[in-house]
Amino acid sequence: MEQPRGVEQAAALWTAQDGSQQVFEQLVNDYYCTTDSARQALYESLSRIFENVYQSADMLTVELLRPTQLTNAAEPQAPDWIMSGYSPLAHFSDDMFANKLAFITIINFPHYTLEEKNTLGRHWSRQEWAYARMGDVFTTRVPAEVKTRMAQVLAEAENYIADYNIYMGNLRTEDNRQLWPEDRVLLSHWNLRDELKALYGAENGQEKQEMIYQVMQRIVNQTIPQSAINSNAVLWQPYSNQITKNQSPITNAPSEPYTRYARILDIAHAYFAEDPFCPTAPTGIIRNFEEGVEIPAAELDSLFRALVGSEQVAAVASVIRERLGRDLRPYDIWYDGFKARASLNEDELTAQTRKLYPDADAFAADMPRLLTQMGFAADEAKAIASRIVVEPARGSGHAWPCLGRKEDTRLRTRIASTGMDYKGYNIAVHEFGHCVEQVLDMYFIDHYMLSGVPNTAYTEASAFLWQHRDLNLLPNGKINDQMVNGKMVNDEVLDQFWSMYEIMGVSLVDMSMWQWIYAHPKATPKELCEATQQIAKDIWNQYYEPVLGEHDCILLAIYSHMVNAPMYLPNYPLGHIVQYQLEEHLAQCKTQAEFAQEYKRIYCLGRLTPKEWMIQAVGQAPSIDPILHAVKRTLQK
Ligand SMILES: [Zn+2]
Repeated sequence: MEQPRGVEQAAALWTAQDGSQQVFEQLVNDYYCTTDSARQALYESLSRIFENVYQSADMLTVELLRPTQLTNAAEPQAPDWIMSGYSPLAHFSDDMFANKLAFITIINFPHYTLEEKNTLGRHWSRQEWAYARMGDVFTTRVPAEVKTRMAQVLAEAENYIADYNIYMGNLRTEDNRQLWPEDRVLLSHWNLRDELKALYGAENGQEKQEMIYQVMQRIVNQTIPQSAINSNAVLWQPYSNQITKNQSPITNAPSEPYTRYARILDIAHAYFAEDPFCPTAPTGIIRNFEEGVEIPAAELDSLFRALVGSEQVAAVASVIRERLGRDLRPYDIWYDGFKARASLNEDELTAQTRKLYPDADAFAADMPRLLTQMGFAADEAKAIASRIVVEPARGSGHAWPCLGRKEDTRLRTRIASTGMDYKGYNIAVHEFGHCVEQVLDMYFIDHYMLSGVPNTAYTEASAFLWQHRDLNLLPNGKINDQMVNGKMVNDEVLDQFWSMYEIMGVSLVDMSMWQWIYAHPKATPKELCEATQQIAKDIWNQYYEPVLGEHDCILLAIYSHMVNAPMYLPNYPLGHIVQYQLEEHLAQCKTQAEFAQEYKRIYCLGRLTPKEWMIQAVGQAPSIDPILHAVKRTLQK
């Protein structure tokens, strides 16, 4: 007789340590549900258990992190730092396999592949979706020591990136001029990129941009002298690569020994170690895209290539060329001149937001008003706001989601003693957009197993949707077309398009690099360095050289996330795609109240697959067509 699907999947994860074949058969006999009502009762019970476990563990983590994360808590001591790396759920999966609860879950709630969820799921009821999500809880059985190894190599990659500073005051042109002040230190690649963006229109801006570009290439191809990294002991001429120490030139200064690629390979080896324990998703690539992002890598790849290869690229590039009054250079992928808000009077706005929000409590007290201004009814606004706690963060602002219905979601913001400045307000509204999403798809949703969003891109879309309306949300802010009709216009559209063009190219390099790594599991750091450059060149030559010039440019491989966050980059362009489609859809609402209700309906869909979520939200799978059409319309004006 053919075995039920879940029983087969459980058998694949069963090991000799779990017991004999007979023990397994007895377990199936005892716990396999033969009626719908028994299965539903089991579902309810498991759902309650998962909610309690996840939520309690999260509440403990929040408490343990308080000193290191918040300014209104005790000064962090050594034990607080140690416990900040502690994970209460590190052994949860092992424990559940040991006490057999994982097997009971699997035999009754089988795992469905992404492909099945996207096809069969079209006809599933909400309950069937919830059952399918329960089938995603225990799909792998990675031993704790293998998981620990992954955490270790990720932490090492993080430290490597966090300490990769360039002392700009120590850079010299070939004729020995210093372009930056002594104390200017920039972290690669984020600060370097932001500096490059800020140099548009600055005096001698282009000379500095060219030098940053030169530094970036030396980081990618690892010809950067080791002594020039995170140190101000030497002077460095990035073009000739000459190093000078105490006025004497150093010959043959050693280059960085492919450390960048060694860190990536450490992560790859940690993936390889996990692979045998993941029968339904046997590679890191499959786990990241089919189980994490839940869009197959190949699908994202062709979505991105369709945009970077579109005819709109050349058209937008010629607008930029006209505005800059020169031929484009490779680093113009970061052209910053489309920012529509350059005309804002930031000082005036800061005066207003400081008065409005002297501290975190003032922002918390104002949340119901923000929600009603967005169109929510007063009682609903109050109910949503009552689940959001505002806390003063030590670091940058962020939103901390709740994992159960006894827990609040947390909006962390950084407020100076003088009050919240406009930039802080803009970020706080972004984080508020995350929090509202988190409350809706936890407290207003029908099944706990469906709480949340398909992936990070979808919560970012909500955050951007709010952030985009920050001015309208001020007490005297206009409730005008912009609120309902958040459609981006003119420069905003071009800005959105150009940043998609940039980040999609970077994502394509990241994705292709991981394909190469899996095809060459024994590669050395040097070989990976060469392969990554070749991948970056191929993508550049096909999609970027035609408008930005420079054959064989390797700039697209500079992103630090390629090192410390494997395959994370594709989430960024996906977030832009989702946001744009949502804005177009919500623009059809006639009133602010209708807008809020539609936004709420969409964010109560929960954790469907990204594709099914979009179809149910806006009637169309993730697509680049809306932004391409908008660019065309904009350029025709
Ligand atoms: Zn965000």
